[in-house]
Amino acid sequence: MLYTTTSILKLKRDLLKITQILDVESIRKDFPILKREVNGKPLVYFDNGATSQKPQVVIDAITNYYTNENSNIHRGIHTLSQEATNAYEEARKKVQQFINAKHSNEIIFTKGTTDSINLVASSFGKKHLKKGDEIIISTMEHHSNIVPWQMICEEKEAILKVIPINDKGELLMDEFKKLLSPKTKMVAVTHVSNTLGTINPVKEIIAEAHQKGALVLIDGAQAVPHTKVDVQDLDCDFYAFSGHKMFGPTGVGILYGKEAILNNLPPYQGGGDMIKTVTFEKTTYNELPHKFEAGTPNIVGGIGLGVAIDYMNSIGISTIEAYEHELLAYATKQIKQIEGVRIIGEAKNKASVLSFVVDGTHPSDIGMIIDKLGVAIRTGHHCTEPLMNRFNVPGTARASFAFYNNEEEIDIFIAALNRAVTMLK
Ligand code: PMP
Repeated sequence: MLYTTTSILKLKRDLLKITQILDVESIRKDFPILKREVNGKPLVYFDNGATSQKPQVVIDAITNYYTNENSNIHRGIHTLSQEATNAYEEARKKVQQFINAKHSNEIIFTKGTTDSINLVASSFGKKHLKKGDEIIISTMEHHSNIVPWQMICEEKEAILKVIPINDKGELLMDEFKKLLSPKTKMVAVTHVSNTLGTINPVKEIIAEAHQKGALVLIDGAQAVPHTKVDVQDLDCDFYAFSGHKMFGPTGVGILYGKEAILNNLPPYQGGGDMIKTVTFEKTTYNELPHKFEAGTPNIVGGIGLGVAIDYMNSIGISTIEAYEHELLAYATKQIKQIEGVRIIGEAKNKASVLSFVVDGTHPSDIGMIIDKLGVAIRTGHHCTEPLMNRFNVPGTARASFAFYNNEEEIDIFIAALNRAVTMLK
């Protein structure tokens, strides 16, 4: 890579701009894992799309719960149970405020995005889908927003339609409009692509779908950690996301659904907590949100997620967005200077995901070499095999950034990548 004096000055200006947005050095101290070494080198963690790291406050909340508060919720009269119930329900309210839902009973705790989408596909599908009905998804969906729809379509003899994309990785909105018809019962699309980084025009998609009487589910797994989400403003019917990608624990996620629509769906699973009364002759179901929360939930997960939301709020989601935007621009500019690198996903609106392939090399070889230099990126199909087929690549290498990453780490990554490319050529 050859730098001229002007390009060095320009890079320095970019760096200054980045550091003015956020005091990243003090934020990094909140994430204990960032202090560790991997293969004898300081860890550079660029696999945030797969899962994010956890701040100390979230780790402490988990320890504190099991040390001081552990008890089952909703059923106990004793103090510990009430404290745990309050903490869990408090977390639900934090989620409600975070995505601006109208009511806290529209917030269903699930295991994660996958679980949330399966819930909707199953419950909605069972009640509302019939032979010949249509579901629309897009080419850039994660497998968890493809397979549950395929399964229910197979069961109900409904038809799955797919919105195509252009070479930059943007949805072809005209084609989407052509796919919509009175037969369309559900449109399920991702807000932000985990592989391309594309931010989709979901508000427009929702409005178009509603005009045809279809409901809309948005997969927000990659949006919520990076951008402000307001479910009332979007007017989506369902919104799904995972706690672990937004600095919270694994095994907990959210399904937002409009109250009236959720009330009109059958329960997903049967068991404790989701019932009002049970006899052998007949069971009546509990009210929202409990109707969709059978069994003992991931109590500590919910509480930890609430703390993660507090943490994100303390930085400010618009600050996070602005900072990550600069990080992505900086990384994109640098990676483009490496010969043979092709970026997969060059949408106009992008979140902090940088997917690429390098001529004549396999992504996993790159991933393995740079791991030896302490840099963690993801390689493969990223659970988006149909998207890989669209771009005619077996997989990509993907660096995905969070607000605790910095420009120095990008420099290390670029140097490591240069080394890998030289070795593999
Ligand atoms: N959708 C998207 C866009 C994702 O990035 C992911 C996780 N990679 C999922 C769904 C599934 O999330 P989870 O594994 O947490 O259920």
